[in-house]
Amino acid sequence: MNFKEHLEFGFWLFIPIYLILVTIIGEVELKFEIIGFLFYLLGTVLPDFDKEDSTIRRAMYLLYLGSVSSISHSFFVKHLGFYSWPLSMGIAYISWKVLPKTKHRGIFHSIRFSFVYSLLSLPVSIILGGNLNSTLFLFLMAFFGYTIHLILDGSLKF
Ligand SMILES: [Zn+2]
Repeated sequence: MNFKEHLEFGFWLFIPIYLILVTIIGEVELKFEIIGFLFYLLGTVLPDFDKEDSTIRRAMYLLYLGSVSSISHSFFVKHLGFYSWPLSMGIAYISWKVLPKTKHRGIFHSIRFSFVYSLLSLPVSIILGGNLNSTLFLFLMAFFGYTIHLILDGSLKF
């Protein structure tokens, strides 16, 4: 399955998953519904980050170059002025190139990593003042989104 198929399949599958979760957990505040939806949707495409030419990897490359260059520039600009830009851009570009290569459908295509991804929702819930129900909602939304990708790939391993 490609990016679009994973995204669209996951997108429509949200409805039954949402209904099941809300039946079990109970209603959550609108902000948790929306953030849960976004965690879920990102999860449906995120595992293919480990594939060199995947759409999600390209999108993350864009975010990486943008954020690392900007953060670095704001750090060096006081001392280097304009020259801070080429330095910061060089740092962003080279640091991405030296990141270790990952095997496609390796560790990122596992239930273990689905769990790790879901843990990212915990600090978000705490920051937003979530109670037990909304925290569980965010966690499970992230978990189901990511795990559905693995099921569709037929690579459901621990
Ligand atoms: Zn995949």
